[in-house]
Amino acid sequence: MQTTEDYQCAYCGESSTTFIDISAGYEQSYIEDCQVCCRPNQFFVSIDRENLDVQITTDYRE
Ligand SMILES: [Zn+2]
Repeated sequence: MQTTEDYQCAYCGESSTTFIDISAGYEQSYIEDCQVCCRPNQFFVSIDRENLDVQITTDYRE
């Protein structure tokens, strides 16, 4: 099951849309390159178990 959600790049601040694979879990973290500046963002994805509302936090990759 997939959904899409907007996120804001930690580097350039631009908003983009990314695919979220809900079947991968309700708490996910992974690295994904920004679609605008191509720099690697650390994504923290939190999905509400009841209404599947997706929250994305981005941070600089450490
Ligand atoms: Zn960016």
